[in-house]
Amino acid sequence: MNMVDIITAKKLHKELTRAQISHFVQGAADGSIPDYQLSALLMTIRLNGMTAEETTNLTLAMAHSGDICDLSAIPGIKVDKHSTGGVGDTTTLIVAPLVAACGVPVAKMSGRGLGHTGGTLDKLESIPGFCCEETEEQFVAQVKDAGLAVISQTASLAPADKSLYALRDVTSTVDSLPLIASSIMSKKLASGADAIVLDVKCGSGAVMHTSEGSVLLGQTMVEIGHLAGKPCVAVVTDMSQPLGTHVGNALEVKDAIDVLSGRTKGDLLEVSLLLASHMLVLAGKAAGPEQARAQLEKALESGAGLAKLKDLIRAQGGDPAVCDDVSLLPAAPVIRTVTAEAEGWVAEMDTTELGLAARSMGAGRAKKSDMIDPAVGFVMQVRIGDHVEKGDPLFTIHAASEQSADAAEEAILEAITITEEEAVRPPLWYAVITEDETVYNPDAE
Ligand code: URA
Repeated sequence: MNMVDIITAKKLHKELTRAQISHFVQGAADGSIPDYQLSALLMTIRLNGMTAEETTNLTLAMAHSGDICDLSAIPGIKVDKHSTGGVGDTTTLIVAPLVAACGVPVAKMSGRGLGHTGGTLDKLESIPGFCCEETEEQFVAQVKDAGLAVISQTASLAPADKSLYALRDVTSTVDSLPLIASSIMSKKLASGADAIVLDVKCGSGAVMHTSEGSVLLGQTMVEIGHLAGKPCVAVVTDMSQPLGTHVGNALEVKDAIDVLSGRTKGDLLEVSLLLASHMLVLAGKAAGPEQARAQLEKALESGAGLAKLKDLIRAQGGDPAVCDDVSLLPAAPVIRTVTAEAEGWVAEMDTTELGLAARSMGAGRAKKSDMIDPAVGFVMQVRIGDHVEKGDPLFTIHAASEQSADAAEEAILEAITITEEEAVRPPLWYAVITEDETVYNPDAE
């Protein structure tokens, strides 16, 4: 098999065979194909696309480029959840404990922050003592014992995706539907769950900015899941503003604890309940999303969800006391509230820029080797559609220094548009996609 022939075929819009796809995926995993040839192929795929069959073959080849996690020792239907990435997107820390509290085992492998988006592992590691590294045996034992575990993807999980993703990041080939779908689904298939709920973000902070693009991505991933024998539901949710009010690692853990303690309601809770209800349905615990929601609300109100978060933290070496006293989480030395300079309506947010502002403060990494500052970030006091008077608080910065706070203030103000005309609130979700149908939110039209 010759790599030049494979690149040429894609350049000429030909469909790649399963053998050709397996060849370059194996070469990406074992390092036998040079980066310049893989990069050229990625760009031809980015420009010329892939058929549904090619995308499925690519996903399966990447899933089998490493080990497949065996969760069969855990009784019950294991349902995984994955977000395509967002800002203030802390749903895993709410969804996993609530779903586990309803009796569904949650065995979740998560990632770190990528680009402007936050990562669940970085958030969890802001809890003093919390450790995300476990062997497969420890992972399975913890889910059997505590009902849930959230760990780092093992090095042997979909290694081809690791190499290809690193190249995509530096060759402007991230925004390709077949490459995104295969990257996400290969990791989900390899992590061993029986069914998957996908949170496909849409808007200024998402990989897909339009609802059409996000729906197509969701449909592609649901179809791949179906072909691989794993039932999938994709929910297209809004990312035109940060989902939670808090952005930054320890701040987002606090947001999740506030939600699970019943102190905070709002969009983060609503999207978490929406995703969790589809997980309960796939796990066979409820006949439909409404029945599932009632179970989840009970787990929230009784405190069972918060108790499960404590179990998770305890099982992974962290201090569960943070759930009763959030002041035990890392705190930043500089706290500054920025207010509106004029009256108006919050009309738009450039959520990618908001995520990058948090990253520049130290909440994320520009390079793999960068250290995270768990304490820094910001808390939004406004949402799109809100009316503000001059002097009303817009956001509160938690920074490592006055200089960092100055830079963040400028960047965040730049990312928020306040207009004189009344602005409309975006819908929370756009579509729910199953194997059989795509149901659009009537309020999103
Ligand atoms: N998340 C992934 O894991 N892969 C992509 O390609 C995009 C988002």
